[in-house]
Amino acid sequence: MRLRELDAPTQERIEYLRSGGRTCHEGTSLWSAASVRQILTNRIYTGDFVCGKRYNRLCDPYNRRPSIPEEEWVIIPDSHPAYISKEDFSRIQDRMKDNVKKRREIIKKNQEGRPFEENYYKRIIFCGVCGNRIHICRDSVASKDKCALYHCQGYATSRHPVPHRISIHKKLLDVIVLDQLQNQFHLARQFTDWLKSSAGKHCVATYLHNLESSLENCRRDLESLSLHRTQIFESYADALLDKDSYLQEMNHIRDKKHSLSLQIEKDTKELETVGKAFSPSNPWLVIFTSTPSPVLLNEKVTHSLIDRIELAESWQVTINFKEEKWFLPLQNLYESNLPQTSTEL
Ligand SMILES: [Zn+2]
Repeated sequence: MRLRELDAPTQERIEYLRSGGRTCHEGTSLWSAASVRQILTNRIYTGDFVCGKRYNRLCDPYNRRPSIPEEEWVIIPDSHPAYISKEDFSRIQDRMKDNVKKRREIIKKNQEGRPFEENYYKRIIFCGVCGNRIHICRDSVASKDKCALYHCQGYATSRHPVPHRISIHKKLLDVIVLDQLQNQFHLARQFTDWLKSSAGKHCVATYLHNLESSLENCRRDLESLSLHRTQIFESYADALLDKDSYLQEMNHIRDKKHSLSLQIEKDTKELETVGKAFSPSNPWLVIFTSTPSPVLLNEKVTHSLIDRIELAESWQVTINFKEEKWFLPLQNLYESNLPQTSTEL
C-alpha cells in the first residue's frame, strides 16, 4: 500500500521509461502482491549478487531448470545498493516461514476427521501438457465435493504459454490404474500360454526363420555385389567398358551396398530383440508373471509396475508400464497371428 501511495514505479514501468517507450508494455504503477513478494524473497534486493540458483538440462523436453542447494550458490556480498537491509530481510523471511507453518497447521486441522487418502503415485505422475509433476490435493478448496484429486493448475508461464487445467479425482484414477494393471497381468498370462502352445511355438519359429532367411539373403546379395564390383572393375581395366558406364555401375553398386548394409544391421538388431521378446525371459513377461495380479493398489505395487503416468484433458490417462518396450513386439506378433490361431483352434 505504501508503494502505491508513493506512486513508486514497478520494474516493468522502469524498463519502459528507460527504453524511451520502445518496449511493448507501458507498465503500471500498481504493485501486485506477487511483485512485492518477489522483492521480499529475493536476496538480490539486500545488495548481494546471487547466481547459480538453478541449472539447465540440455536433454530436458520440458526445459525444466532444477534448483541448486542454497549452500552451493555463488554470492558476492554488497555488490550494489540495497533496497532492504539484511536485518529486515532476515526478519521478513522468518515471518514468512512462520506464516507457512501456520497455514499448514490450519490445513491439517481442516483435514482432521476426513478419511486420509493415500497417494500411490508419488514421483511418477505428471501433467501431459506442461510436464510438471502432479501432487495429490486433499484440500476442499480445490475439490468442491471434498474428494482428493490430482490436478495441475497449468498457469500460463514463459515456458508454457498455453494455460490449461488438468484434474482427475483420485478414486477415478485408482480405478483406471487398477483396471489397466489387471489388464497387463491378463495379457501376460495370455501371451505366456500362447508362447507355450504349439501354435505360438510354430508362429515364433516361422517368424525367426523368415527373419534369418532374409538376413542370409541380404548377406548373399552383398557377397555377389562384391563379386560384381570386381567384374566391373576388370572390364573397365580391359577397356571393355567406357568410363561413364563404369562410373554409373559403380554408383549403382555403392547405393545398393549401402541399403543392404542398413538392412543387415536392422535385421540383426531385430533378431536379437525378438529372440528375447518371444521367449519366457522377456523382461515385461517376467515382471507381470512373477507376481500375482493386484486386487488393491498400494505404493509398492504402483512403483514396481509403473514407470510413469501422464494426465491429459478429458480424464485421459496414459500409463507407461515397466519394461514396456518388450511388450510391444510380443503383442504385435500375437495380434498379427490371431486369425490363424483362431482357425487352428
Ligand atoms: Zn500442466
